[in-house]
Amino acid sequence: MKYFCIECGYNISTEIYDYSLNHFSHPLCRIHQDWIRALLWDNYTTQQTIDLYLALKTNGVPAVIEKFDGYKHIDIAIPKHKFNIEIDGMHHHYDSNQALRDLKRTYHSFRRGYFTIRVPNTLVDERLNEAVEYIIKFLNESMNQQ
Ligand SMILES: [Zn+2]
Repeated sequence: MKYFCIECGYNISTEIYDYSLNHFSHPLCRIHQDWIRALLWDNYTTQQTIDLYLALKTNGVPAVIEKFDGYKHIDIAIPKHKFNIEIDGMHHHYDSNQALRDLKRTYHSFRRGYFTIRVPNTLVDERLNEAVEYIIKFLNESMNQQ
């Protein structure tokens, strides 16, 4: 059985595959295991962002994590579909200032042709597969409408 890193497609050994599945739930080469660790250590990316990103990659979605749009980092971007995903903690819902900033940002992205969905952490934690299924439906629709 041959195993491949879902980030770079590099062939990985059975040992690295097993280790990666235990620690990251997805097959990653050593370089990309370190890359994920670094994203988490910086406290810059949340576990939920990484979980959703890796689940999308596993499903063949050409996602980019922490993409800089010239203004701010997008948690997960799918440039090919002009589709952005922001993964939010609860403060995005409780704090109206934060919620309004989010809405303005969604609007400015939309003006530039980018559609943004906001996904709460709880959805990633508890219903990840269904969330991925629906995101893929969005992407398929966007292809149909082009
Ligand atoms: Zn890799």
